[in-house]
Amino acid sequence: MKRNIRLILLGAPGAGKGTQAEKISAEFGIPAISTGAIIREAIASGTEMGKSAQSYIERGALVPDEVVIGIVKDRLAAPDCAGGFILDGFPRTVPQAQALDEMGVEITDVLSIEVSDERIIDRMGGRRVCKKCGATYHVTSNPSPAGDKCGVCGDPLTIRADDDPAVVRSRLEVYHSQTEPLKDFYAKKGILKVVEGQEKLEDTTALTFRALG
Ligand code: ADP
Ligand code: ZN
Repeated sequence: MKRNIRLILLGAPGAGKGTQAEKISAEFGIPAISTGAIIREAIASGTEMGKSAQSYIERGALVPDEVVIGIVKDRLAAPDCAGGFILDGFPRTVPQAQALDEMGVEITDVLSIEVSDERIIDRMGGRRVCKKCGATYHVTSNPSPAGDKCGVCGDPLTIRADDDPAVVRSRLEVYHSQTEPLKDFYAKKGILKVVEGQEKLEDTTALTFRALG
């Protein structure tokens, strides 16, 4: 029997969490939950939550803990999470990780995808996203089979406002100060595994699958 995987993906913005989340989701048949994607959808559809989150996202800051914790709590209660799930982009702070503990959510695996800051800054310029279905691509390392359109739904691909180089630099600072301490938090629980991000997407995927056993 397949084990029930309740996975957290850690890693700097642009480390490739979202892409690996999609691969793991397909392989293990469990949902990938991206807080960034949920927030961007809320902004696009103009909900109250979206309106309050927009200014944080645009300057590369984190959305307040209580907002994201509420999003994740609701999402994990959905029936499709019963057989396991992947959290991409949550938790991003120690209080968010503590909130998961308090919800009684037992995480089985934490994978940290490690990529140097320099490579991240290089990569972000090439990232393209589909606003409609949330698929992500990269012009060189993971191009859409449909060119400048989404390979999944055919919508035109766009560049995220927060992939601007100055914003990327502040997101990296936020990552190092607020999110990286979570590696220690989960290492102490004995569930942290480190995956070195590779030049080629499929090489990283192979390491990811191996780490999940
Ligand atoms: P990336 O992994 O490339 O940084 P995400 O799509 O995960 O991109 O997140 C984009 C933005 O959404 C973040 O910079 C932040 O403003 C907001 N966000 C996403 N997840 C969280 C979270 N868990 N806590 C606070 N803010 C979040
Ligand atoms: Zn799409």
